[in-house]
Amino acid sequence: MTDYTPPVSDISFLLNEVLGFESDVVDTETAEAVLEEAAKLARDVLAPLNNVGDVHGLKLGDDHSVTMPPGFKDAYDQYRDGGWNAVPFDEEYGGQGLPWALAFGVQEMWQGANMAFGLCPLLNQGAVEAITVHGSQEQKDFYLEKLISGQWTGTMNLTEPQAGSDLGLLRAKAERAEDGTYRISGQKIWITYGEHDFAENIIHLVLARLPGAPDDVRGISLFIVPKFLEDGSRNDVKCVGLDHKLGIHASPTCVMQYGDAGGAVGYLIGGEHQGLKCMFTMMNNARLCVGLQGVAIAERARQQAEAYAADRVQGKSFESGERVTINQHADVKRMLMSAKALTEAGRALTFEAAISLDGAIAGDEAAREKVDLLTPIVKAWCTDIAQEVTYLAIQVHGGMGFIEETKVAQYYRDARILPIYEGTNGIQAADLAFRKILRDGGKAAYAYIDALEAGLPSDEKEVLGGYINELRSAIGKLVETGAGGDLDKVGAMSSPLLKAFGIIAGGILLARSGSIAKGKGGEAFYDDKVKTAGFYLGNILPLAKANLEIAVNGSAAL
Ligand SMILES: Cc1cc2nc3c(=O)[nH]c(=O)nc-3n(C[C@H](O)[C@H](O)[C@H](O)COP(=O)(O)OP(=O)(O)OC[C@H]3O[C@@H](n4cnc5c(N)ncnc54)[C@H](O)[C@@H]3O)c2cc1C
Repeated sequence: MTDYTPPVSDISFLLNEVLGFESDVVDTETAEAVLEEAAKLARDVLAPLNNVGDVHGLKLGDDHSVTMPPGFKDAYDQYRDGGWNAVPFDEEYGGQGLPWALAFGVQEMWQGANMAFGLCPLLNQGAVEAITVHGSQEQKDFYLEKLISGQWTGTMNLTEPQAGSDLGLLRAKAERAEDGTYRISGQKIWITYGEHDFAENIIHLVLARLPGAPDDVRGISLFIVPKFLEDGSRNDVKCVGLDHKLGIHASPTCVMQYGDAGGAVGYLIGGEHQGLKCMFTMMNNARLCVGLQGVAIAERARQQAEAYAADRVQGKSFESGERVTINQHADVKRMLMSAKALTEAGRALTFEAAISLDGAIAGDEAAREKVDLLTPIVKAWCTDIAQEVTYLAIQVHGGMGFIEETKVAQYYRDARILPIYEGTNGIQAADLAFRKILRDGGKAAYAYIDALEAGLPSDEKEVLGGYINELRSAIGKLVETGAGGDLDKVGAMSSPLLKAFGIIAGGILLARSGSIAKGKGGEAFYDDKVKTAGFYLGNILPLAKANLEIAVNGSAAL
């Protein structure tokens, strides 16, 4: 089964009724129409190719070309010609200038329909942002329009065999040339969409080190390295290998070789030794979007589990003694409700961050602090949710879940990369603890928690208020531990604290959703929201307590 129903009503309800999304550029009706149109492409074109990509995989030619699976090139053409690549970008360069919150709604559908396909625009987005923020006027004029339209695509080249989480170890070299350009050499591994047949040109954003540069992260610089140069000639960069992977078989994960014939022509972006700053611009929104991928794949997996459970007859009802479909058994209901509640809570937190991202771009400093704080939580917590929900989706299928023919195993395999790339979830936890909490003494975290508390639905104040107080006190403990200099302990506290933060913040947003839905009454859609929120508060929220306990006390044993 490959059916996928894009969750348009869920996204609209969340944005408009729960999170209070407002925009000067787009009214509610237009936003809805954009989501409905995206849903068609996702459901009718991208979703049916998801398993085709898994089964066929990719082909690396002797000429270093990569052939995408059948149907993918045509799907990309439809995606590009529909203007979908341009949704959130600058109108000056052909973008549609729509808010990120809406772009996230659209993007959830690409990722849910076909995550291996959706990675191409996700990586391109990082390149567009890096050039928009750090590029010279000339670079913006030359690259942005084509990257925004999707005529060209972009990549991020950070990783090398000895330099993964620790980019201070990277060795790729950049030499100054007399004409003001640079010559890049070295090898990058695991470069997503480093080569493919979607686009006329591929624009690589490559981190490399200049001669004499400091030998840590302060010594790295960022370069634009196009596959084809301005005069149409081929640059000295090629894909020399494709990795065989557990999942996302249709996403080319490339070994890229630079400079075999004397050095690839590269153009410096953002100044010498400014690579780290530029890299964070590339990575930050991408990290949020990886969290969104987690939500998206969880949604698709849980939809399939629900459909299977409504059809599979096994066992008898305790009440009637009749044989029933498995969705009548309490334990299967538990799995399906867990999958739904986790997915919806993850979505709520991700879109909360996306709305703050719009605020931050508009210059609101408080919104900037909030999105910075939420980014590692969204990335790590939502990608962990994807592990749990895809696991549950297989479990609901029983033995059939383990059989590839059902196609539910693909979501489980595909989802496994999410906690690893764009900074492992361990690195996200460290980012939260050290950079987002310790650095300002917890100010941004407390501000966000205060805002959550102020928005608590009155009927859940008592229960949720207790969790909020415990979260505050764990953050206080982290700050105190950091101030006392026990940084190993801060590191040990970081993952369980992040998890608890996600569970509590997501739970409060879901409680808000339930409370708003209760006010509507009657319709199945709203009743469902009330039920989901109730389930979350009783069955998932308590896990936050255990994680806070582990964060504060368990780490002492490490
Ligand atoms: C399918 C795929 C696609 C990818 N796409 C791209 C891409 O497009 N561009 C690109 O540049 N890279 C890409 N990557 C690379 C990816 O970003 C790295 O794999 C990731 O950053 C982790 O690095 P590593 O694999 O070397 O793991 P390591 O850094 O060796 O980490 C191993 C373990 O140690 C932990 N760890 C490491 N350092 C610390 C620390 N300081 N504190 C706490 N824990 C730590 C990690 O959390 C992890 O659990 C891709 C990888 C894959 C598999």
